[in-house]
Amino acid sequence: SEEKPLNFIEQIIEEDVANGVNGGRVHTRFPPEPNGYLHIGHAKSICLNFGLANKFNGKTNLRFDDTNPVTEDTEYVDSIKADIRWLGFEWANELYASDYFDQLYAFAVQLIEKGLAYVEDATAEEIATMKGSPTVPGKPTPARSRSVAENLDLFERMRKGEFQDGEKVLRAKMDLASPNMHLRDPLMYRIKHAPHHRTGNKWCIYPMYDFAHGQSDSIEQITHSVCTLEFIPHRPLYDWFIEQLGIFPSRQYEFARFNLTYTVMSKRKLKQLVEEGFVNGWDDPRMPTLSGLRRRGYTATSIRTLCEERTGVQKRDNLMIDLSLLEFCIREELNKTANRVMAVLDPVKLVITNYPEGKTEELISENNPEDASAGHRTLPFSNTLYIEREDFMENPPKKFFRLGPGLMVRLKHAYIVKCDSFEKDANGQVTTIYCSYIPESKSSADTSGINVKGTLHWVSVAHAATAEVRLYDRLFKAENPSNEEGDFKAYINPDSLHIVEKAYIEPSLLQAKPGDRFQFLRKGYFTVDPDSSNDKIVFNRTVTLKDAWAK
Ligand code: ATP
Ligand code: MG
Ligand code: MG
Repeated sequence: SEEKPLNFIEQIIEEDVANGVNGGRVHTRFPPEPNGYLHIGHAKSICLNFGLANKFNGKTNLRFDDTNPVTEDTEYVDSIKADIRWLGFEWANELYASDYFDQLYAFAVQLIEKGLAYVEDATAEEIATMKGSPTVPGKPTPARSRSVAENLDLFERMRKGEFQDGEKVLRAKMDLASPNMHLRDPLMYRIKHAPHHRTGNKWCIYPMYDFAHGQSDSIEQITHSVCTLEFIPHRPLYDWFIEQLGIFPSRQYEFARFNLTYTVMSKRKLKQLVEEGFVNGWDDPRMPTLSGLRRRGYTATSIRTLCEERTGVQKRDNLMIDLSLLEFCIREELNKTANRVMAVLDPVKLVITNYPEGKTEELISENNPEDASAGHRTLPFSNTLYIEREDFMENPPKKFFRLGPGLMVRLKHAYIVKCDSFEKDANGQVTTIYCSYIPESKSSADTSGINVKGTLHWVSVAHAATAEVRLYDRLFKAENPSNEEGDFKAYINPDSLHIVEKAYIEPSLLQAKPGDRFQFLRKGYFTVDPDSSNDKIVFNRTVTLKDAWAK
């Protein structure tokens, strides 16, 4: 097997281990905020963080970054855990930033005592104005010169609930002239009178990201804290708090965010799609969430292949990954693993006039030509079949290797047939195609000597079962809806779901269970949707057989 070159974070860690930094110990974390379901961008981060630990005999914590009580919920906590496990990873410790609220409060008191933090009375607008701009230095507010004693008193009263939301904040006393706006006395705590999913009503002040994340890393003795590029300007703040508090020196490293074409990836936007009914929930098969992709039929291995093998870890420039690359990964896998079956989505009747009426032949059909161990099944054949309407043309052009008057095709696993005539209804719709079959042309025992170019899938009318089939297209019309002008929702594809209420499927499919995956011959890869019941089986199309968008 070929050695993959190390990505830039692996190189840094390799060097740290060689130099005995932290005793050669490697400890990473994956820190989701439980305010939505995980998406494929998170999968990239999960594969990276757990992958680093695996590679260097380290550990990975799962830490819920739950410092905003208003947006967080245990429903999200549960789904996040299920999705990480589904991807095939197990964390060393399950932790919550909210478990550190007492410690973080004590850290804040320490900084106040060192004269490095103060309670601000100004409103958000006043603070923003006084901060200046990258070219204009900020000005101190009157609160900046408060005494330590007064700050300690006010901060305690903030905690006790004596003030309303927005009335006071705690700020770090850093540098109002810094060219990095994040360092101009950033907020450390805000007041929010809202119950928290874990701490209930214990707190009415909550730490800001910048005052929670690095300290949480440090408390857990995380060695390499990996985040996305937009946190580069926050890094001096991350380091400053750790240094001023004199606590374990975790280090932050940034890599390029992972985006996928024809979708959005921000949880805030995904939540809007759910809440405003553009999709049927976080696990709608059109969503880029892991639960949506799973329901669509994606395997964990196909997503890991995309994240670990087919895309890199970059130091700059956010990645835009082509949706067709993800589709390539699942197609390649399912080609090897999915059993082939037959289903007719848009039926027209085909009658074989020289085949005995009422006779059933049980054809032996291989399940997967790519996998000899997949075995065989029986397939009932009779004189009346359904084929796809698009496989017949009254006036076919040259090189139409399907059916038309006088044309011959092979019926998969069965016989060669020749179209002799057809019938239409009053609207000109073809209703029945009449064929004769060549008895000596049976598949794998063909002595007819006849060569035909086309092979059609079919089901026997008397034996077929029915199913609902859901066909999906891209959720958005624009390659990068977030970059387009105006509301991203204006770029939603109105035809992203097409439901075939009654498709005809071969009877073997009645045994299929939710999550089972198949190739419907010539139609794509499909999986059984959890909406299925004993009365009705529902299939989702995961992906077509060929890249429909390839030029
Ligand atoms: P969103 O904007 O979707 O809410 P987020 O970064 O706020 O994203 P978190 O729950 O905080 O979401 O993310 C948890 C971890 O996953 C973070 O370390 C974050 O950097 C990483 N992550 C999130 N989105 C992506 C992405 N598109 N590509 C790579 N990593 C990501
Ligand atoms: Mg975040
Ligand atoms: Mg977020």
